[in-house]
Amino acid sequence: MSSSSPKRVVVLGSSFAGMTGALEVRKHLDDRDEVVVLDPHDRFTFIPSLIWMPFGARDAEDVTFPLAPLYDKKGVEFVNEAAAGVDVAAHTVATTDGRSLDYDKLLVATGPRLAFEKIPGLGPDGGFTQSVCNLDHAERARLAWERFLENPGPVVVGTAQGGSCFGASYEFLFNVHHRIRKAGLEKVAPVTFITAEPFLGHFGLGGVGDSGKRVEGFLERLGIEGIPNASIVEVREGEIELDGGRVLPFAFSMIVPPFAGVDAIRESEGLANPVGFVPIDDRFRHPEQEDVYAAGVATAIAPPETTQVPAGVPKTGQMSETMAKVAAENIVADLTGKAHRDLPIADLSAICVLDAGNNGIIFKADNVLAHGIYADGDEPTAHVMAGPQAHWAKLAFERYFLASRKRGVTAF
Ligand SMILES: Cc1cc2nc3c(=O)[nH]c(=O)nc-3n(C[C@H](O)[C@H](O)[C@H](O)COP(=O)(O)OP(=O)(O)OC[C@H]3O[C@@H](n4cnc5c(N)ncnc54)[C@H](O)[C@@H]3O)c2cc1C
Repeated sequence: MSSSSPKRVVVLGSSFAGMTGALEVRKHLDDRDEVVVLDPHDRFTFIPSLIWMPFGARDAEDVTFPLAPLYDKKGVEFVNEAAAGVDVAAHTVATTDGRSLDYDKLLVATGPRLAFEKIPGLGPDGGFTQSVCNLDHAERARLAWERFLENPGPVVVGTAQGGSCFGASYEFLFNVHHRIRKAGLEKVAPVTFITAEPFLGHFGLGGVGDSGKRVEGFLERLGIEGIPNASIVEVREGEIELDGGRVLPFAFSMIVPPFAGVDAIRESEGLANPVGFVPIDDRFRHPEQEDVYAAGVATAIAPPETTQVPAGVPKTGQMSETMAKVAAENIVADLTGKAHRDLPIADLSAICVLDAGNNGIIFKADNVLAHGIYADGDEPTAHVMAGPQAHWAKLAFERYFLASRKRGVTAF
């Protein structure tokens, strides 16, 4: 177990990556070592279920649980504040309430900043499009959806340039279509999908197996127009203008924004790249700050190829947890002398379930960044399955995840 003086591990963020990292580190350190988690939210939100919230299929209490009781039980100190900045030289984290916390090891798991401001008129705060990227946005999207049902018209769903969470916009697209059909509104509410991806089903990875063909076929069957290489110039009330001059009218629109790193991390000297993401090596350690680790969306992962319109690499919840486990293992190794573990980014595997309301598509790819690129249908590490089982898989994922994490179990 850990040597001599007690150590303190500080974790910034308590979602997929941060919660997993904190619980894993806690499991393997001495009781006298401290694990401290900071997050401005006092509840965990299962973000994957937010795609259902606008349609009234989930409420906040269905997809969230309080963090304090869990951490209390597990011997982790929970600080319900945001980090305001990190001084990597002094090994301290400043909190928004003016506290300063020393750390021996730091795990940054602060997720994305939703960079709506990069596109005029984008987003629910002062803009015209909706978002399902956080609980507040999903709740507001429900009100917009209710207004849409009273006064239906065209719908536009997509991911903006610089975005990376492509799976979320596909899932939302399929669910919107499902709801429109159920409401008998197909004739008055044609659906268009816009995406920064160079082709449909690219996912920021160059495709997964034959995902390009599968996704294109899926959209075709549903009668949805898909526009890849889409770059949004501006959103105005009721219309989106794309680069090239095309204007898409809408009565309801949900667009996943560009992602950046959170300000507190971006502005901390020596910690992040200019966009605010934290560089990492194969141990999920900062290449220049040996006591700093990062996991999840907060990490800097270069896209595997240059695309016409900037498209980021997706860092799914499942990938974020894997990263956090490796980072935690290496933090414990640093503190106890146990063996370290390397997991090159290219060796990460990904499981992606795209729910479509009553069916969907499941993708599974090993070595996703190495083999997803340009893989054809024969790619041995990629598996794609379409059908109602995808919908049931998503429901099972939600149920299992919430039940296990509430109890502090971190195995996927
Ligand atoms: C609509 C939608 C559907 C999705 N569906 C799936 C799916 O089906 N399967 C899947 O695997 N993935 C899915 N994802 C992706 C998944 O939600 C993300 O990969 C995951 O949330 C990333 O986890 P994270 O811990 O890195 O970041 P986040 O979940 O974004 O969490 C970051 C945490 O850091 C906290 N934080 C922010 N700033 C600070 C600060 N300064 N100090 C302290 N804490 C801070 C935040 O409050 C938050 O709790 C979906 C995403 C969306 C948007």
